[in-house]
Amino acid sequence: MRLENKVALITGGGSGIGKASCLLFAKEGAKVVVVDLKKEAAEATANEIGDNARAFAADISKASDCEAMVKFAEETFGKLNVVFNNAGIFHPNDESVTNTTEAIWDMVINVNLKGVFLGCQYAIPALLRAGGGSIINTASFVAIMGAAVPQIAYTASKGGVLAMTREIAVEFARQNIRANSLCPGPVETPLLAELLADSARRNRRLVHIPMGRFAKAEEMANAALFLASDESSFVTGTSFLVDGGISGAYITPE
Ligand code: NAD
Repeated sequence: MRLENKVALITGGGSGIGKASCLLFAKEGAKVVVVDLKKEAAEATANEIGDNARAFAADISKASDCEAMVKFAEETFGKLNVVFNNAGIFHPNDESVTNTTEAIWDMVINVNLKGVFLGCQYAIPALLRAGGGSIINTASFVAIMGAAVPQIAYTASKGGVLAMTREIAVEFARQNIRANSLCPGPVETPLLAELLADSARRNRRLVHIPMGRFAKAEEMANAALFLASDESSFVTGTSFLVDGGISGAYITPE
């Protein structure tokens, strides 16, 4: 098993990529702390796993919640080896720079960027106490390319995640902590459900994906598993694109 004797904390574990990762990490031997804003969703994931998982309700945009989730992981399972700062939001009125409100900007940045900062801030001392570990921060392919449909706060938040993760990787590399960003292409999860339900908006995105389909949450969980496990022992500071070829394409085939 690829995560035997490891303790992992995954934010946004109640849905989508986070949930698929909780299930996979547990299957690979990890003890998992399932963190989510929605208590019932976190509990449902933890119950599906059984004894090797515990749910914890936290809002990652709040420092006290991030401090508490890390403390809970150490108290419950004795240590922390892997942190997957995955929780994030997408707001339907997050659009062009010219019409996105300050309130939406603040909301998205607070969760997607500050939430990852706080997750790292409180997890790193715990990882150091465990002798090192792996941090995975969820960004997006839009942090690397301009999005075809504007979503300025989301894109800016994910660009911040990439830059911050690189700097963390450099600072802590000699202390046995690795930090990498996962950059998914579009994934069929509740985050995009409303958007993908509209066939025009769905096709507007689909046309850019060489593979001709959206990703499944399990495909992101597999990529996160690689970054979490010792198989990626020389991988740090990277922006791991798992995007069905989007970023490699100039024009996609019919
Ligand atoms: P999702 O909506 O299915 O799941 C996100 C989970 O995060 C939810 O359970 C939600 O309750 C939780 N959450 C939201 N705000 C929170 C907060 N403040 N504190 C704690 N938990 C909170 O989304 P997903 O598609 O699985 O997305 C996971 C990550 O992947 C996000 O960071 C997202 O931006 C990123 N991502 C998704 C896609 C995609 O196409 N779905 C593409 C690129 C990147």
